[in-house]
Amino acid sequence: MVRFFKFKLSNIGGFSMEAVKMESVSTTRGGALYEDNGHQFLWLGLDEMEEGNIIQINQYVVRHGSRCIMLDPGGSYTYATVVANLSRYLDLDQIDTLFFSHQDPDVCSGMGLWLNTTKATVMVSRLWTSFLPHFGGVDTNRLKAIPDKGIRVDLGGGDYLEFIPAHFLHSVGNFSVYDSRSKILFSGDIGASIFSPNQHRVFVDDLADHIPRMEGFHKRYMCSNVVCKEWVKRVSRHEIKTIAPQHGAIMVGGAVPKFFDWFGRLSCGVDNLQAIYG
Ligand code: FE
Repeated sequence: MVRFFKFKLSNIGGFSMEAVKMESVSTTRGGALYEDNGHQFLWLGLDEMEEGNIIQINQYVVRHGSRCIMLDPGGSYTYATVVANLSRYLDLDQIDTLFFSHQDPDVCSGMGLWLNTTKATVMVSRLWTSFLPHFGGVDTNRLKAIPDKGIRVDLGGGDYLEFIPAHFLHSVGNFSVYDSRSKILFSGDIGASIFSPNQHRVFVDDLADHIPRMEGFHKRYMCSNVVCKEWVKRVSRHEIKTIAPQHGAIMVGGAVPKFFDWFGRLSCGVDNLQAIYG
């Protein structure tokens, strides 16, 4: 069943229609988080059947003119579902880039399938290009290493995608992606949230209410407060209206600055080593 979000934009303080077209997004079919003449930032929808023992994942596509860049396409387990969702919006042939924020199986274990069915090039941290072929079916000539300092991909007309270092959050070779046109930050595992089955929300604007869904994951998986602070400093150079993570809810409105504040102060990973070891 397709369920559309009904809440009014006026209910969300500081949130503009330009940033996320929530009313046009459905939980199951997804939709455009941003759309204008020539540019789209698509979310491909939710498969609630995944939730429970297997972590839910989000897929996004940035379309700009003839460019189609897919962000964290997902593992082999979800490949068929993602292709079906994607087919509502574009043909596989249109995808020119597959971006992997890091090396985890839920991000890229489907790489062989994607490379066999698209003409795309893979962009991933230089630390992972020699490991990923172990997922199988990979032409290494189609792997493009992102340097540690990040990279900017010009889309034309002054628009760009900025691949921002997010190393150690949680992976040692890890990137977030900022879309200058939509002002959406794809944050990968940063900002991930975990919902109980059938409780999923696509958008959240109240961070206090949302923190319990994020806290356990971030405290254990993120490396240390030092790198959290560094990431917040780097992404804050950009105007960000929306945070789109790989898992869980998309943060909008007042949740965006509050998330950066919360994450920049988070004690996590090796900060809490004794508590982890018990
Ligand atoms: Fe991960």
